[in-house]
Amino acid sequence: MPELLANLNPEQYAAVTLPNEPALILAGAGSGKTRVLITRIAWLIQQGLASPSTVLAVTFTNKAAREMMARLSALLPIDTRGMWIGTFHGLCNRMLRAHHRDAGLPATFQILDTADQLSAIKRLMKGLNVDDEKYPPKNLQYFINNAKEQGLRPDQVDASDNFNLKFVELYRAYEQQCQREGVVDFPELLLRCYELLAHNAPLRAHYQARFRHILVDEFQDTNKLQYAWLKLLAGQSNAIFAVGDDDQSIYAFRGANVGNMLDFEREFNVRHLIKLEQNYRSHGHILDAANELISNNSRRLGKNLRTDAGHGEPVRVYEAATDTQEAGWIVEEIRALMNQSGLARTEIAVLYRSNAQSRTIEHTLVNAGIPYRVYGGLRFFERQEVKHALAYLRLIDNPNDDTAFARVVNFPTRGIGARSIEQLADAARLYNCSMAAAIPYVTGKAGSSLGAFANLIAKMRAETERMSLPETVEYVVRASGLADFYQGEREGQDRLENLQELVNAATAFVSEEGYGLDTPARSIPLAPGATAAPEVGGQGEVVVLDAASLTEPAQNPDTMTPLAGFLSHASLEAGENQAQAGQDAIQLMTVHAAKGLEFTAVFITGLEEGLFPHENSAIEADGLEEERRLMYVAITRAKERLYLSFAQSRMLHGQTRYNVRSRFFDELPQATLKWLTPKVEAGTRWGGRSDNAGWGRDWFSRPDREARHGGYGSYAGDAAVSAPLPAFANEQRAAETGFRVGQQVFHTKFGEGAITALEGSGPDARAQVRFKRHGEKWLALSVAKLQVVE
Ligand code: ATP
Ligand code: MG
Repeated sequence: MPELLANLNPEQYAAVTLPNEPALILAGAGSGKTRVLITRIAWLIQQGLASPSTVLAVTFTNKAAREMMARLSALLPIDTRGMWIGTFHGLCNRMLRAHHRDAGLPATFQILDTADQLSAIKRLMKGLNVDDEKYPPKNLQYFINNAKEQGLRPDQVDASDNFNLKFVELYRAYEQQCQREGVVDFPELLLRCYELLAHNAPLRAHYQARFRHILVDEFQDTNKLQYAWLKLLAGQSNAIFAVGDDDQSIYAFRGANVGNMLDFEREFNVRHLIKLEQNYRSHGHILDAANELISNNSRRLGKNLRTDAGHGEPVRVYEAATDTQEAGWIVEEIRALMNQSGLARTEIAVLYRSNAQSRTIEHTLVNAGIPYRVYGGLRFFERQEVKHALAYLRLIDNPNDDTAFARVVNFPTRGIGARSIEQLADAARLYNCSMAAAIPYVTGKAGSSLGAFANLIAKMRAETERMSLPETVEYVVRASGLADFYQGEREGQDRLENLQELVNAATAFVSEEGYGLDTPARSIPLAPGATAAPEVGGQGEVVVLDAASLTEPAQNPDTMTPLAGFLSHASLEAGENQAQAGQDAIQLMTVHAAKGLEFTAVFITGLEEGLFPHENSAIEADGLEEERRLMYVAITRAKERLYLSFAQSRMLHGQTRYNVRSRFFDELPQATLKWLTPKVEAGTRWGGRSDNAGWGRDWFSRPDREARHGGYGSYAGDAAVSAPLPAFANEQRAAETGFRVGQQVFHTKFGEGAITALEGSGPDARAQVRFKRHGEKWLALSVAKLQVVE
């Protein structure tokens, strides 16, 4: 299949055809890293250098894994299920399912997503009478996850003060609770799987013998534990083929460690370091903007990107008065892209830094009748009604899952009050068993209502035993009483539709994953002269090792029941709502979720100081550089059209925020930008400088004057403050507040700075301060407690 390699450039070709030795492909966005990785898998198989079952490939999202499998099946007539392609969590889940006994887990173990985990922690703390003000559950959750990501069990955590000792004690109790209930959280999937391989030499040897080819995409975002897991699988003789881009490392806040790239190079004696510098994705102006922006970062491994595409369109910049106006402009531009440029909706993405920003954009799209799809945010599988239905399904699979039990024991209401549930929880603690198992210990009326619930679950289990997965889901939605409940609710229609969508998701899952389908392994055509690589325990072949329990599992569909598989899928699916997949819709997502993707047109919204770069970045070391990498990821998603926007005021979390435009605008090459609204120099917007003639012209010439007027006046809740000319305003404010423009001040969090503007009066008085280290910020004087530095 010569065309496999025909379209590669020389560096890509070299990377694809490297010998089976450790390799690092270090390259910027859009240079074909993912393409190289996929082509390499296809090439290895086609040349007979690998059989599908010897391939393990790690992707960053489930969506990427699916795409990879689809592209591979298009390239080669193979059954991709023979390969292990997935996220770290997905792959670990698969391994733990196959060896659950060795891993100390029940066959039916359930996965707690982040929200489930938090409710399990709250339940634990309540049971132990721990003061949740002194020990906030969220902090404990962070503590536990962080420890696990460092590979530390409670005994290994270094804690000296009483506070941390208490956290360690709670971590231990939490582990016991999870074990008793047969549930694992996300980091546990990884840690448990790591320990399984680390402590079980024959099993480790077996997998090392099997996975001769380990390929990792987005390597820059692996954390310490993931890297350790990869090292175990690689052993002494397997080569890891890692591709990544240090400039796109954006998960440091979740423990990702870009240093893994350097460690990898050193520890594996990487002889093959290949850089790809040709960008195939973006037009010239877009790429120039990305290159120049990221050059502001100091800690970089160093590489360049060039393109043969022409300059293309300039990057369009829009300043709005309010977030609503920003959304209105986006919708107008989207319309033009569709109607005039003929773009499909799926080719247009709207990106934002924080999930909360999507609401206004969604609202405007709904009003305009434009279909859209939100990735991330409240995931389909996280919606209340869907979680209720899943909880019943989980109880059918594993009655000891207390999180699921607590969620639905009295939903829909069946007269089981909080008192009864507390009684039951006490009994469960006393007898060290699950809540379901403790039901016989509860007497009286509470006991009989609980008994009826247990009977309901038992009945569901019996009835669904012979049903297909979609039938099971449909049955459970009805038998649980959920359908009736939402039927009677005023706004239940949406929820009922989502429950129907869950049945559809089950149907899609069964057909995509091949459960119950007869899919014999197809033969792989070999390149002339190549001999087939030996199969090592793949495709359902059972390899018996020393220990009786060490049998190589067959593939996914055979080791998990469809229901267990579906429940894992629901927990692991990262905002990639199956039910709507393929729908022709505008793509809405956070910048984090956009990693690895590309779109013809991209909008990056909310480019305001405090939002992007995010205000938290000011507190963390490397915070600003990480925000800049995030902006680099955002820009490089665009192929042909890039739009940047910001709003002077924005409603967020129920409050109106006043913003100045992001510093990133000053870090972009001005020649690539086209301002759709007049560019106002920093500092002149609110009359911070004496030359506010420009401001006045700007103000009166702008079509958005009314909107801005409203926005300006509304913040103070004071009609009198309706956009006075800033110079006068400042003088007036100066007298009222005791501060004046130009004054040097000190703030406890942001340090030293100078006041550039003043606004509002009384409790609403605000100052804009340009901090030496943190840039410009608006601060409420009643809260900020600025000190004058004379
Ligand atoms: P990111 O860092 O964003 O993940 P990447 O380096 O993984 O980017 P790809 O997604 O693999 O880049 O490729 C970017 C685009 O360039 C894709 O549309 C891909 O098909 C195209 N591409 C890659 N290599 C070539 C090539 N040699 N010829 C033509 N197009 C190419
Ligand atoms: Mg990629």
